Amino acid sequence: MGKSSIIFSCILFLALGFFSYNLWKIIRNIRLGKSKNRFDQPLKRTKILLKIAFGQTKLFARPISGILHALVYWGFLVITIGTLEMMVDGVFNLDRSFGVLGGFYNVATASGDVMAVLVFVSCIMFMFRRLFLKIKRFSGKEMKKSSSIDAIVALVIIVFLMVSLLTMNIGYIGIHPDSYFGSFPLSNLLLPYFVNWDLHLLHDISWWVHIILVLIFLNELPYSKHFHVVMSIPNVYFSNIENLGKMENISSVTKEVKLMMDPNADPYATPPVDTPPPESFGAKDVTDLNWVQLMNAYSCTECGRCTSECPANQTGKLLSPRKIMMDTRQRIKEVGKNIDKHGKDYTDNKTLLNDYISTEELWACTTCNACTQACPLNIDPLSIIVDLRRHLVMEESAAPQELNMMFNNVENNGAPWQFSAADRLKWKDE
Ligand code: SF4
Ligand code: SF4
Repeated sequence: MGKSSIIFSCILFLALGFFSYNLWKIIRNIRLGKSKNRFDQPLKRTKILLKIAFGQTKLFARPISGILHALVYWGFLVITIGTLEMMVDGVFNLDRSFGVLGGFYNVATASGDVMAVLVFVSCIMFMFRRLFLKIKRFSGKEMKKSSSIDAIVALVIIVFLMVSLLTMNIGYIGIHPDSYFGSFPLSNLLLPYFVNWDLHLLHDISWWVHIILVLIFLNELPYSKHFHVVMSIPNVYFSNIENLGKMENISSVTKEVKLMMDPNADPYATPPVDTPPPESFGAKDVTDLNWVQLMNAYSCTECGRCTSECPANQTGKLLSPRKIMMDTRQRIKEVGKNIDKHGKDYTDNKTLLNDYISTEELWACTTCNACTQACPLNIDPLSIIVDLRRHLVMEESAAPQELNMMFNNVENNGAPWQFSAADRLKWKDE
């Protein structure tokens, strides 16, 4: 093992170790959520995964940014093969070790070479848009300056990643003009511009710059909104595959209501008799939410597509579904830090409800599902809103006056109006 292999192995070990440690913490935080069965219908879930996560289909609702984003995503998928090869090469002091894959390697390297240019162009356009165009959905009270800086830093890293990948390819084919593994159509076109360069040096510097940037980017992910690069696949797979308008009822409450509305209903028919009633209703803090909702929070890209479609937000209400997701993420991170510092049983007397999300925001929601429909990662802000409202209504009796009146009417009259069912047709006599 050469000196450079040992140095590289140490750097790789530290970088992967640090990333794994942060990933473990995030998984632990997600597991603080309540259980939720999302392991059903694997075939349907896989189809949705292929269409929405790998196909990026929901992004095409806005064609230009959608195509650019999809190019970056697909580019990353292809280029990851080359990154894995570099790690193997670096540890074992090899050169293009995946070259033994023959035809597949030619396709992978050719795609990577072309995608590097497309990703480069897309990122430059994204940067231009961020810096010089005032896109409304990138603003909002929940959007701090750090969100914008985070996005620019990631774009700059990706631009340098693509440049170093191309210069590494140019160096490689320049050093081995007649006997190289793979296919590099665009690097071949660019090679004549580098004839006077020291191609060995260019290749070696590009190799190190590229792999170090990959490891820096990897370790930046858990601290930034770009963690969706990791989370998008599980998030889409475990997303809600029911019709969007279908509300999840609490089965034990449904049973009571059914019996109340119809005293002749079979008390053992729905739900099954072994369904235990919940310990508490709805959610007050993040630990009352389920693990899918917490995973949603970690997956949010802060793109604002949900907020830009939200009718409450459009009409000047306080509600922003993106803020709901960002607040949930911020709070679960805070709870995780408290556990790290003070142990599992520590409480800071703060809650997601009130300390992060106000009742005014919650009651502004029309439950229209436009946010869920618009989200490119199938994130469901409405489910969090409904759970927080459920807590307000069922644990604190803190619904707005208009709703309390309606609840009383349903309880007393079996209908939302102030009349009993027997009086329903009285208007006819008049
Ligand atoms: S469901 Fe609520 S938060 Fe989502 S878009 Fe409709 S009003 Fe906005
Ligand atoms: S919830 Fe979805 S649409 Fe809304 S900001 Fe996050 S990723 Fe974008």
